[in-house]
Amino acid sequence: MNLLLMGPPGAGKGTQSKRLEGVFGLVQLSTGDMLRAAVKSGSDLGRKAQAIMERGDLVPDDLIIDMISARIEEPDCANGFILDGFPRTVPQAEALAVMLAEKGGKLDHVIELAVDDDAMVQRITGRYTCAGCGQGYHDEFEKPATEGVCDKCGGTEFTRRADDTEDTVRNRLNAYHEQTAPILAYYKEQGVLKDVDGMADIDAVTDQLKGVIGGA
Ligand code: AMP
Repeated sequence: MNLLLMGPPGAGKGTQSKRLEGVFGLVQLSTGDMLRAAVKSGSDLGRKAQAIMERGDLVPDDLIIDMISARIEEPDCANGFILDGFPRTVPQAEALAVMLAEKGGKLDHVIELAVDDDAMVQRITGRYTCAGCGQGYHDEFEKPATEGVCDKCGGTEFTRRADDTEDTVRNRLNAYHEQTAPILAYYKEQGVLKDVDGMADIDAVTDQLKGVIGGA
């Protein structure tokens, strides 16, 4: 089974993908995570993507399509995957359809996390991650039990994404509405688009997603 979670930055695609991985035995494919790893490693792709990501613009389609088409050929994708952050443009969606058709696969569910833009700025600018284990926190909504200490691994170092600043978030939201939202119509026409209320609390969103996916 292959899933695609759609929604603007901050909608909860990453959080929910991680939860669904375990439930359905799928692998999360986050193009944002892959690009951040490329930037960190200093690869050719990383050098090309870094400044674009810091501005909150979209990395060119050809680079993204090459990156994801290589990734879905890896053995851990054989049981299916959850796409998080890809496709983000109509040409990417079309390229994905070709890739899946070549493998004899398809997208079983495209699910939009419906959210309120204004709330996204607050969600994103407050989020941070444990540098040791990757556990996510938020300045207001999800603090660790002891301030400065990770609940999960006891680590005391935390990181914030370079593009989680207010100006960049607004640019990322614009990019979503201008370049990514048109994909929703593309999937609606194909009859595979469903939506869930992404403003509900994290567990309730997971339950809604399980209902949509499990009920297919
Ligand atoms: P994300 O972690 O999904 O919020 O992505 C972070 C940044 O990586 C985005 O703001 C873009 O600059 C870049 N990016 C991630 N996925 C894509 C994609 N599918 N197409 C173009 N740029 C992307």
